[in-house]
Amino acid sequence: MARMARKLKGIAAAPGVAIAPIVHFHAALDHIPTWKVAPDGLAAERARFQCAIAEVAADLMALQKELSGAIATHDARIYDAQLAILHDPTFQKDVESEIVQHHVNLEVALQRVIARYEACFAAMENAAMRERAADLRDIGRQLVGALLATERGKYTANGIDYLFAAEEFLPSDAGILDRAHIRGIVTEHGGKYSHGAILARSLGIPSVVGIEQIMLESQTGTVAIIDGDAGLVILDPTPEQLQDYERMRAEQVAIDRRLSELRFQPSVTQDGVAVQLMANVEGVRDLDSLEPESIAGIGLFRTEFAFMERRQFPTEDEQVAMYSRAMIGAEGKPVTFRTLDVGGDKPLGYFKMPDERNPVLGWRGIRLCLDWPDILYSQMRAILRASAHGHARILLPMVTTRNEVARCREVMGQLVADLKANGVPHDATIELGAMVEVPVLVSVLPDVLPLCDFVSVGTNDLVQYLLAVDRDNQRVAKMYDPFHPGVLRVLKQIADAANSAGKGVSICGEIAGDHLFTPLLIGLGFRELSMAPVFLPRVRLMLRSFTECECRDLAARALALQSTTAVRALVRDEILVRWTRQLAGTPEERRS
Ligand code: PEP
Ligand code: MG
Repeated sequence: MARMARKLKGIAAAPGVAIAPIVHFHAALDHIPTWKVAPDGLAAERARFQCAIAEVAADLMALQKELSGAIATHDARIYDAQLAILHDPTFQKDVESEIVQHHVNLEVALQRVIARYEACFAAMENAAMRERAADLRDIGRQLVGALLATERGKYTANGIDYLFAAEEFLPSDAGILDRAHIRGIVTEHGGKYSHGAILARSLGIPSVVGIEQIMLESQTGTVAIIDGDAGLVILDPTPEQLQDYERMRAEQVAIDRRLSELRFQPSVTQDGVAVQLMANVEGVRDLDSLEPESIAGIGLFRTEFAFMERRQFPTEDEQVAMYSRAMIGAEGKPVTFRTLDVGGDKPLGYFKMPDERNPVLGWRGIRLCLDWPDILYSQMRAILRASAHGHARILLPMVTTRNEVARCREVMGQLVADLKANGVPHDATIELGAMVEVPVLVSVLPDVLPLCDFVSVGTNDLVQYLLAVDRDNQRVAKMYDPFHPGVLRVLKQIADAANSAGKGVSICGEIAGDHLFTPLLIGLGFRELSMAPVFLPRVRLMLRSFTECECRDLAARALALQSTTAVRALVRDEILVRWTRQLAGTPEERRS
């Protein structure tokens, strides 16, 4: 029987409309499909178990082989321990009897048996035995992963368009996407400023996040519509809904075509004040779809994404190759390489980090790199070597103190001297900048700026820390509002400090790509904005629709307001109105 259409409201994370069947992806053991197994289905469950064991064992052995030489013999034994669990007859028997006695599917049986084993190991005195609990859980996750992969393989391996549905979309998941066929992303968790959402925008994949019931309400194969502008997902849509959205999708293509015609027009205000519009990229592959003539350069290269998609640290030479490709692709325009910004919500699978209670206030960004100078040295050296191909800049994430910049400058000085002594080509005048995303840095900027060639404002984190609102938490997503007058006042303080010190200042957080913010940012004094390429045409159009004087006036009025609601009302009355006028007669106008 056909199911009724269900409309679920979430958070609009990446624009566009997508229509396709959903495919479930599970990262954790906790969230698995459940069904009752009839007596005649027992043999099939057993067979599925044996196939999954064989598949996981083959993967583990391949991984062990791949890593041999790269990791110590002692560490390689972890895989022996996991293989032993996998082939343990008692483990296999326990899982099978759980299926037989309780008529549950294999995934549920695995979850229950592993939870029982884990509890036993965790209660043991011996620390080494307690560690085995983690191995068990890992094996469980791999087995469930193999089982679900078989199910989703029906869609993803057969060249069928699909929508990715999961608890969360993490930057490291980019590797599992079938780029030719993924049409949309929907997740239970996350906010508009989560790294998963940022990645979706950069890949141009319509996305809605924060629908807590999506995994329960849908299953692999459920047809859905994702409306990434309205933050809506419609499961099992009616033929009328499908028709409406098909039409909207076609209209959107027409708007995008119209906007993209603007891409080579100068990025200047209506009265000719130049603003550098730059692109944020998450990897070299993003450069393939960029037209260097349409941008002023790369304002943010999030290098950690490339690290996260791998199984081990890239060598210095591998990094040089990657950065050089970016430099060559940018055709002489500046490329701003941000040093590794892992930690927080960006874990590195192969670099064990401690469990932290407050990871976003923890060991991340430049803090971690200064504690592990090898990582910083090899990355900076690689960027310096690549800098011979054009105009590179180095940007430090999560800077909190002047001393952190001073230490990085010292490292850079040593590396430059060493490269020079060895005759290795590089740009000895490479610029070094700091991200302004930790609120306290704003008040010490006049002391920090003399050590920097430029600064770049990371509003995604800055707003999270200023408002004390987690950027990844859908429950407080409504409170994460960069239009808060306090945020605008802090932005003004940053622009004033940098402009009066004669240092370049850009914004590379997501508000740089929000066209409704553009006139305010210009009015506050910013002349360099870096954003996901998908937003460049809209921002360019907005920029060209206001004079500098109008922008200043708008910013002054916004700064004097006392509530976010009042700022939003000003934006609606003065900025949105002009936007809709620019797009008169288009569906964008009807939807806004
Ligand atoms: C930011 O914080 O605004 C930023 C650009 O960096 P990220 O989103 O990667 O934390
Ligand atoms: Mg940040």
